[in-house]
Amino acid sequence: MNSAVPRYQGAAASAETARLSHFIDGRFVPAGRSSFENRHPATGELINLVPEADSAAIDDAVKAARRALKGPWGKMSEQQRSAILRKVADGIMARFDDFLAAEVLDTGKPKSLASHIDIPRGAANFNVFADQVLTLSTETFRMATPDGAGALNYAIRGPRGVIAVVCPWNLPLLLMTWKVAPALACGNTVVVKPSEETPTTATLLGEIMNEAGVPPGVYNVVHGFGEDSAGEYLTSHPLVDGITFTGETRTGEAIMRAASRGVRPVSLELGGKNASLVFADCDMDKAIEGVGRAVFANCGQVCLGTERVYVERPIFDQFTQRLKQAAEKLKPGNPFEAATTLGPLISQVHRDKVLSYYAKAKAEGAEIVTGGGIPELPAPYSAGSFVEPTIWTGLSEASAVMREEIFGPCCNIVPFDEEDAVIALANDSSYGLATSIWTQNLTRAHRVAAQVEVGITWVNSWFLRDLRTPFGGSKQSGIGREGGVHSMEFYTELRNVCVKL
Ligand code: NAD
Repeated sequence: MNSAVPRYQGAAASAETARLSHFIDGRFVPAGRSSFENRHPATGELINLVPEADSAAIDDAVKAARRALKGPWGKMSEQQRSAILRKVADGIMARFDDFLAAEVLDTGKPKSLASHIDIPRGAANFNVFADQVLTLSTETFRMATPDGAGALNYAIRGPRGVIAVVCPWNLPLLLMTWKVAPALACGNTVVVKPSEETPTTATLLGEIMNEAGVPPGVYNVVHGFGEDSAGEYLTSHPLVDGITFTGETRTGEAIMRAASRGVRPVSLELGGKNASLVFADCDMDKAIEGVGRAVFANCGQVCLGTERVYVERPIFDQFTQRLKQAAEKLKPGNPFEAATTLGPLISQVHRDKVLSYYAKAKAEGAEIVTGGGIPELPAPYSAGSFVEPTIWTGLSEASAVMREEIFGPCCNIVPFDEEDAVIALANDSSYGLATSIWTQNLTRAHRVAAQVEVGITWVNSWFLRDLRTPFGGSKQSGIGREGGVHSMEFYTELRNVCVKL
């Protein structure tokens, strides 16, 4: 198939033949002040060159999105938009292998993971919100008036307008479509700024949008970095009506500042330092499997992942030994091979950050149960940004490793004796994103779940997602909730109409 998004031809191909473009007003445009390299984290090989949008390119994209609000998109019924979004979902599935290859190249995550999570969820997001928009309701109130005739109030929903969608690199297609699908379902238009680390699938989605009949200007993609680059230009553009962001808490603060100019609404899905609470009466096999995924899946680069594991003392030694075995079974290497279960970190820069925490853990007095370094791999993977899955014990609650988000495949395991004490430890964090509780005593599970100060709690599971449920974080993990009707709340503006009868 002819594609405007170049397929990776191997390291030997000229980078000139593999240039990505922005997607603006339905067309692929390479405009920008410069370009930057996109490299495969498993080997360091060059995948493609990416244009960096200057403020003029951002302006083009935002203005195209504004025009599109007044075009055919703005006149479509919810049923028509819903039908188009279903075609987008079908289009992603029809190009499944292209999306999968692009996502694995950009992130280095194992193909086995991306084929089960990232790409199918990317498509599912469009189907879920295509359904959701058709069942959206508003309220009605009859009121009494002095003349006895009364009045009728009813609310109507309209799109907010142009939405800026700023995305991270850990689940690029999944997290981007999580925002784009409901925004479009509600009749908005979007300008997406994918992470500079993972620009390809958002670009490829432009082709699907065109094929599905999404009018030009409704979905736009601009590439670049954050500060003093595409991210900042986009979020501070005065014609943007709302901003939805997933990424680090510090970036969230910058985006909130940008949003304050013009009083634009923001939805922020930010960082975490999540705890798992493992009680002695848990089903040990399930707890090891679930906590193992929470710590190591996607090489620990999941916002909902666990870096603090609290285990009730009677099973502490057994749990620690079994999690160690699970960590040591993980197989790093070529992400395209079925046997590979551990990919690299996203970049050498991020690896330096994670390794700095591995060094801090040592300095802070941790006992290293397993890992702590870089795995030995043959070329070309020796040039990738791999780290060993790592488990510590013995770190104090005050240590940097226990307080700061590392975003790597690592955790510290701490024994506990009392339910109240472990709830207090779990809550002693500036973040409040997610937790998982492992116990067969469901009364205890409900009691503890009601007391942990997070947006998302799992009992005897992890990352089990019903897309209709509220998703988001407390404290410094975010503002607002997305998912189901909560996304609809953010991506629409409610207006009340009062009719005097
Ligand atoms: P990041 O904040 O560094 O970057 C995210 C995006 O913001 C990128 O596209 C980047 O270019 C852009 N950006 C950076 N500075 C900006 C600025 N000043 N103005 C506008 N845009 C700017 O985050 P990351 O490293 O890509 O992602 C990892 C982080 O994301 C972790 O903290 C993780 O916990 C968090 N995360 C949260 C969730 C959630 O749902 N709560 C989900 C996934 C990831």
